[in-house]
This record gives sequence, C-alpha cells and structure tokens, in this order.
Amino acid sequence: MKILRAAHLGMCFGVRDAIALALEHADAGPLTILGDLVHNPTVLRGLEAKGIAVAQDVTDVKTPTLMVTAHGTSERTLARTRGLGLKVVEATCPLVHVAHRAVAALARDGYHVVIIGQRDHVEVRGLTGDLDRFDVVLDDADVLALAEHPRLGVAAQTTQTVERVRHLVGLIRRRFPQSDVRFVDTVCKPTKQRQSAAVEMARQADVVVVVGGWSSNNTRELVQTCARYCARVHHVQTDADVRAEWFDGAEVVGLTAGTSTPNDVIDRVEARLRRCQVEVPAR
Ligand code: SF4
Repeated sequence: MKILRAAHLGMCFGVRDAIALALEHADAGPLTILGDLVHNPTVLRGLEAKGIAVAQDVTDVKTPTLMVTAHGTSERTLARTRGLGLKVVEATCPLVHVAHRAVAALARDGYHVVIIGQRDHVEVRGLTGDLDRFDVVLDDADVLALAEHPRLGVAAQTTQTVERVRHLVGLIRRRFPQSDVRFVDTVCKPTKQRQSAAVEMARQADVVVVVGGWSSNNTRELVQTCARYCARVHHVQTDADVRAEWFDGAEVVGLTAGTSTPNDVIDRVEARLRRCQVEVPAR
C-alpha cells in the first residue's frame, strides 16, 4: 500500500502566523481571542493550556487585550472593541485583508455586494460587517433568490472552492444578463494550491484520508473535492479516527489536510496509515 501525500496540504501561513502571535502575546499577559482562532481542537487545546481565553462576543472579554483571528473582522467591530477600552491585537491574514479591500472597493464603486460563502462564518461576518446592504450565497437556490440590481459586485470567502465560485458567478451572470456583474476572485492562493493538489492526489488514490477539525470549512470542502475523484474518502480529526478496514484492497492511499491542521497531527495520521499497511496488506 503506497501512501501519497498531496503536494500542498495542511496549515497555511495565515493560521501559523496567527497562532505564533497568540502565543507571543500570551507570554506577555492575559489574552482573549475573539472566536475560534482555528477550527482545530488540537490547536485550541494547546492555546487553552497557555491560559488563552476565547470569547464569542467582545462584551464577554475579561482581559485587557483581545486578539482578532486570522479570519479578520469588520471596522465596526474593531471600533466597538476599542470603544470598550480593550487593546486589540490583529492576527488578520493578509489575504483576508485583500478580500476586505476588494469588497470595500466594490461597495465604493456602487456595486451591490454578493459574497460567495457561508453566511454565519466568522470571515464572512467580517467581510460584510461594514456594509449596510449585501447578500451571501452558497448554492443555486441562494442565487435564484437574489433580487435584481443594476450593478452586482461578487467576491468570495477565501476558503471556498474555485469550482463552486466559478459556477455561482456564471449563474449570477446568466440570471441577471442586464446587470453589470463584476467578480473579484478572493479565494486565497494556499486554498487553491491545496484544492488542486488534492484533486491531483485523489485521481491516483484508491482511498483518500483528509485530516482536519470536524467544523473546519476548508477541510470539509477538501473532502467534497476529493469525493469527486475517489469513491472512498474519509475525514479524520486525528490518528485515533483511522480504521484499518478502510484500506482493504487499496494500493494507493492519498493524504491531505485542511489549512488549520498542524503538521504533527498530519504526521501522526501518516504513521497510523503505515501501521494499517501492516494490518491490511494490499491484495
Ligand atoms: S486560508 Fe488563506 S486567507 Fe485564510 S488564513 Fe490561510 S492563507 Fe489566509
């Protein structure tokens, strides 16, 4: 049984830098993170062990310093936070800042903003938090429910799949042929690299294992992407979730991981796959 690691997988620079910044500030004094820094329980437990608190709303923060995650937040939330007398540490990923600037430019140029993404995701709330009017779409039904606007400005949550984004932009253009539809591609490069490397790997694999938190959006997207090219795809959070019987008869097992999955978690899953190799030899 051959194990094939995707050429690009696992933690992106945005998440890695945000974790490093949190640990650095935690050493300097009490810190609260606004929302989940990453959707990965292993990382979150590590931060908790350092005494870092997590709050879902600024009014629940009990430390003098608050950190905004790599997912970013709106200027309105930042102003509200500073208004409460809190010191703000921003770990917003530079590629999320790019998306914020794209959305602000669309709104400034008179476009009705449409975000392709998950309405309740913290990044999407940050992207739309300074807008008075906007729409968020994730599937065809959402596009069919859109009202007509002479100018529609479309951008995406940075972790969406390129295929979904292209499909929905095409649908928006066909649904509103009279409208000026401007699309800005804000899906980030690490997401694109992980998705295309996952496709490349899944095409060659009999079984694919995707490592990442159950609630991680980009991990779930990777699972769906791989499932289009490989019939046997399994999502695991840690090595403990891997089952030897999944690999019965498999010659090539592909491995990939979401952008919030630490390297050591991926390595432990790979080591477990190698042990399964011994338990379930290929036929
Ligand atoms: S997924 Fe992309 S936008 Fe999000 S933190 Fe990572 S690099 Fe930045």
